[in-house]
Amino acid sequence: MEQLEDLVAAYRILAEHGVIDAYGHVSLRSPRDPDRYYLARSIAPERVQLEDLIEYDLGSTPVGVEGRESVRERFIHGEIYRARPEVMAVVHNHSPSVVPFSVTGVPMRPIWHMAAFVGEGLPNFEIRDFQKGTDLLVKTPQLGQALARTLGAKPAALMRGHGSVVVGENLPRAVGRSVYLELSARMQMQAMALAGPDGSIAWLDDAEVRAAAPIQDYKRAWPLWRDKALARAKAERG
Ligand SMILES: [Zn+2]
Repeated sequence: MEQLEDLVAAYRILAEHGVIDAYGHVSLRSPRDPDRYYLARSIAPERVQLEDLIEYDLGSTPVGVEGRESVRERFIHGEIYRARPEVMAVVHNHSPSVVPFSVTGVPMRPIWHMAAFVGEGLPNFEIRDFQKGTDLLVKTPQLGQALARTLGAKPAALMRGHGSVVVGENLPRAVGRSVYLELSARMQMQAMALAGPDGSIAWLDDAEVRAAAPIQDYKRAWPLWRDKALARAKAERG
């Protein structure tokens, strides 16, 4: 299935852009069965190959006999697919520039056209509201459902002290949004530092957000990123 190669590429693209470190993950709803999704086994993202992908049901139980280690936070994916029928891809990352916004209450705002979707408003998942004393990881169905409820109909949600979750109606959109969300967070911190406490910043306005956000499929970036990523995957295989 060509779409599974896309998923291998997505892992490697996100790692290369510093969006997922050794622990983030990206999934794809099965093109054949909306009640299934694919996610890599517990492995560093930049090493993922086709044979590392595992098929899950929406309860995040592997389909068929499995001896491979699943990632503990897979419930993020299953519960979002359950709650959002139109979502075809989910990225969970520890995007470093996004985390400061999750702990300060400073809202992320739409600062450039490539991440206009930020202007739709990004909720912040406070895990303490649902369970106290966790290690911050979303590793039960209940926490996955709470995160999906916090996300609501939005394109992404911050996760306090942890990272974020980003969704898309297709895989390039979820990956592109993740790459540009990290850059947008970095730019916003730079703009706020430059402007100082009394300076003003010209954010995208609502009309600009409405005009720019729906068309973002990163159609020029995706084939370039994908080809480079799959060439590396092939070279490693030898
Ligand atoms: Zn995580």
